[in-house]
Amino acid sequence: MGYRFGSHMSIAGGMHLAVERGREVGCDVIQVFVKNNNQWKCKPLTEQDCELFKDALKHNNISNPIAHASYLINLATPDDGLWHKSIDALVIEWKRCELLGIEGLVVHPGAHTDSTPQAGLERIAAASQQCIQQVKPKKCNLLLENTAGQGTCLGWQFSELGWLIREISSPHLGVCLDTCHAFAAGYDFRSASGLKAMLTELEKHEVSQRIHAIHINDSKRECGSRVDRHEHIGLGAIGEDGMKRFIRSAMFRKLPMYLETAKGTDESSGEDWDKINLATLRRLASVK
Ligand SMILES: [Zn+2]
Ligand SMILES: [Zn+2]
Repeated sequence: MGYRFGSHMSIAGGMHLAVERGREVGCDVIQVFVKNNNQWKCKPLTEQDCELFKDALKHNNISNPIAHASYLINLATPDDGLWHKSIDALVIEWKRCELLGIEGLVVHPGAHTDSTPQAGLERIAAASQQCIQQVKPKKCNLLLENTAGQGTCLGWQFSELGWLIREISSPHLGVCLDTCHAFAAGYDFRSASGLKAMLTELEKHEVSQRIHAIHINDSKRECGSRVDRHEHIGLGAIGEDGMKRFIRSAMFRKLPMYLETAKGTDESSGEDWDKINLATLRRLASVK
């Protein structure tokens, strides 16, 4: 299979409109939210919502739809109220994904705040298991995303993701690897030896075979900064050569890759940023 590149698309006005927007900029794959990502509440999906979305994917030839869970969810929190609220919210989102035919729900592992990293990891594992029991997923996997390691956010070290995979022990659990986050967390894959070291780490912690999706973002901040700031492809600290090395590696090139870079138009060219970034990715994938 060839490369599959796409972007996160807005669902404003209806889920199916995200697919139309994706086609307009030339996506092979898309990521969406399945509800307003800054609110806990949402209206139930109707059968028509789901059919429109699935039909739009088929007609626009867009595959591998994934969703990003709400930013309010914190599965690692020591606060019982927020922890239960987070589980309930994730269950609702996951069930919506099942109805929409979405194959992966990306969630940030969470922040341990005033507890400890280990206590936080245990909370994430317990919460994930509760969600799996409640959702009984058939098609959609829960994808833990590696983070930049900002604040007390967990999951920036591959050892943490590996621990969670073993502890949760479910075929419905996978990983979404974000290039900006990995780089900011200290994995410098810009050189051949750096990429090899990162791949070795992923294998050592048994994360590699669980990666189902890639968030393809350059980084505004330097390697090891532990700051999460996405940059357009090739224009950040990773740069064109670093991005090229990543997307061409045998481990990643077969996976769907989703942009989460800033929207809008480039002032100098008047061109849409998604189109520019997709063109850059396709150029990097194909040049000698
Ligand atoms: Zn991401
Ligand atoms: Zn990010």
